[in-house]
Amino acid sequence: MKSRFLSLAVDLYGCPNRCLHCWLGHMPNLPMEPEADAWIVERFQPYFDRIAFYSWLREPDFCPDYRARWERDKALSVNAVPERFELASFWHLVRDPDYVRFLKELNVKCVQLSFFGLEQTTDRYVGRRGAFRELLRATEILLENGICPRWQGFLNEENRLELVELLHLSRELELSRRCQEIGGTFRFFVHEGSCDGENRKLYPIRITRDHIPETLLPFYLDADRLQTEAELCEKWKDDPSHISFPQGEELVLYVSNRYELFFNYTHMRPEWAVGNLKTEPVEELLRRIEQQDTPALRTAREISLGELVRRWGDPDSERVFDEGDYRIYLLNRQLENQT
Ligand code: SF4
Repeated sequence: MKSRFLSLAVDLYGCPNRCLHCWLGHMPNLPMEPEADAWIVERFQPYFDRIAFYSWLREPDFCPDYRARWERDKALSVNAVPERFELASFWHLVRDPDYVRFLKELNVKCVQLSFFGLEQTTDRYVGRRGAFRELLRATEILLENGICPRWQGFLNEENRLELVELLHLSRELELSRRCQEIGGTFRFFVHEGSCDGENRKLYPIRITRDHIPETLLPFYLDADRLQTEAELCEKWKDDPSHISFPQGEELVLYVSNRYELFFNYTHMRPEWAVGNLKTEPVEELLRRIEQQDTPALRTAREISLGELVRRWGDPDSERVFDEGDYRIYLLNRQLENQT
């Protein structure tokens, strides 16, 4: 364990949005104790040589003093520096003129912004009125400051035509030319998103292959990986293997604002929790991590992929998935039924 690189992402400040596609699932923004960050790192420090500490796992920099916070995240990290991942808070971008300067100082070259269609649809999906206009304003602020926006669109049956309009809007705004002028590249892409957390509720309107607008095909993220649910059911219906979650050299752990510990895949629901840092010894939590001893991972070992498909797959569905997302979808269907 000691040689593994640990990334700890703690939900210290929450998120201003409540996106309908949020794969983590909606959680209340609850304050943590003032010294929670150092206390959490101290729990793990005896067991890892390198730790990158992140004070966010939802909206990055969503805290009053993001400069001091960034310095503290770096100071709490052990033999490591936290990354930026081309993500930023569009909440701050449109409210605080100093925020974009902060991003510049960090040498941020590109920031990803998420859309769900045009104004009304994006506002509804983000969960607050004005979000679409904020995303457009954030785009302008980034460009004015030499940072390229990257637009991602989450595609489903409801918004497929609006995402075509969104592509047209990006052309009207000449985002490609304007990004080139500042030495970068504008990227627009769409995809179907995973099918867990809040996005699980959008299964009924998940996009089907023949409904992906032709105009969007060149912008579809890794379109060749897509398969329909029917194809995956056929492929796996007799598969005796089990869904596995191989652990590499890097271990990424999420810590909720109630100190519950999770791996960094799928939603943060009780069946996926490793345990609670406040109430359980860290040695026991590390054992569960090493042995993948959590309710969800035990279920994954008990029920074969073929059995999951036979129980929960729809062999007539043309909805598209990538393989990894569909495996998790099936396992979560099983877990929903057990709880
Ligand atoms: S998807 Fe991201 S921005 Fe939206 S609610 Fe979830 S954490 Fe917040």
